[in-house]
Amino acid sequence: MTQIDETHDPQATSWIEGVDGHAEFPVQNLPLGVFSPPGGGKRGGVAIGDLVLDLSAVAGLLEREASDAARLASGETLNALFADGNAAADALRKGIFRLLTDSSSQREVDPALIPAGDCRLHLPFAIGDYTDFYTGIHHATNVGKQFRPDNPLLPNYKYVPIGYHGRASSIRPSGGDVRRPQGQRKSPDGDTPVFGPSQRLDYELEMGIWTSGSNKLGSDIKIAEAAEHIAGLCLLNDWSARDLQAWEYQPLGPFLAKNFHSTVSPWVVTSAALAPFRIAQPPRPEGDPAPLPYLLDAEDQMHGAYAIEMEVRLLTQRMRDAGQPAERLSKGPMTSMYWTAAQLVAHHTVNGCNLQPGDLLGTGTLSGEARDSFGSLIELSQGGKAPLTLANGETRSFLEDGDEVIMTARAVRDGYRAIGFGECRGRIAG
Ligand code: CA
Repeated sequence: MTQIDETHDPQATSWIEGVDGHAEFPVQNLPLGVFSPPGGGKRGGVAIGDLVLDLSAVAGLLEREASDAARLASGETLNALFADGNAAADALRKGIFRLLTDSSSQREVDPALIPAGDCRLHLPFAIGDYTDFYTGIHHATNVGKQFRPDNPLLPNYKYVPIGYHGRASSIRPSGGDVRRPQGQRKSPDGDTPVFGPSQRLDYELEMGIWTSGSNKLGSDIKIAEAAEHIAGLCLLNDWSARDLQAWEYQPLGPFLAKNFHSTVSPWVVTSAALAPFRIAQPPRPEGDPAPLPYLLDAEDQMHGAYAIEMEVRLLTQRMRDAGQPAERLSKGPMTSMYWTAAQLVAHHTVNGCNLQPGDLLGTGTLSGEARDSFGSLIELSQGGKAPLTLANGETRSFLEDGDEVIMTARAVRDGYRAIGFGECRGRIAG
């Protein structure tokens, strides 16, 4: 588990104006991403306040290990930086922290800082594979109840971290339009399906886990080592067409209902940045089975969860036209995961499946217990039976054209400077 060090000191300050009070990207965060500056090509960068630090431009100012890491991160993806695990990124973090807190570096570093608003942000990794899990126990229960009121969780849920292989090619960074998917749907009383645009388009509030390092095909990553294979986290919106899903998912699981588009926040909030926010995995309810030995590690149970608050806001076309702000639909903690991130890594590889640097693992929709923390519209509107009424009088069961979904998250813990993830935003284009 990554240690707490000088880079987490809540008193640390930067010589860059506006950084110390920044809600998301103070000097304690230093998330990594890939951006293009105006007129320039893709390269690695660090978010600091409302600026982006161009890593290729400061590699020469860093000590050897950090300098090598900055060069690895200067290409079009971060895959090379995380190829051998987190050590290179950890060295880079310490080096960048020194540059941005020591004012004697100011003259040399200033030209490498670019206003974030002028930059284009890209996917941080060339994503080899994307797997989506289903760890949100309240979500699984809420959705399960709609189909099986007396038996919402299937018998495997508390033994196996349930997941399926998603589609990497349709993952996009925050900000783009999402085309409403077409497909087959069948109403419960219809004899045959109809074809057309999805009528029950939804979002799913998830965290994404970026993997680092790799394991050889045929080998596994033990639970005790799994945390070292987590490069960092992002927000993930797993857009879902519920009507397509209901018709197609049996017997092999989701397909076209899920793979038309997924959106991630572009900054990788690293495992090192998140070290102060690791908390105990909430104990399982009495009577639940203990995880099987290959999924159980005392250290992971003690520090395997994250103190992260997640939020979803909705901006409809009518709000946009009226100049109104987006309305919050939910806010909840990441601790509703029944399995830890490390358990997902260990489980994914226990059969010998090989993970590669820059793979993306979704946690599954993370809903809290209370209604104001539900992470999808199918839960908030009870499958469309109880539409939401928004402050401006509009109602929603599912997403309409022009609706923009904005997800944010912050890691917050007493005694530490809170850090944020930036936005995961997408608009339904119709
Ligand atoms: Ca999902």
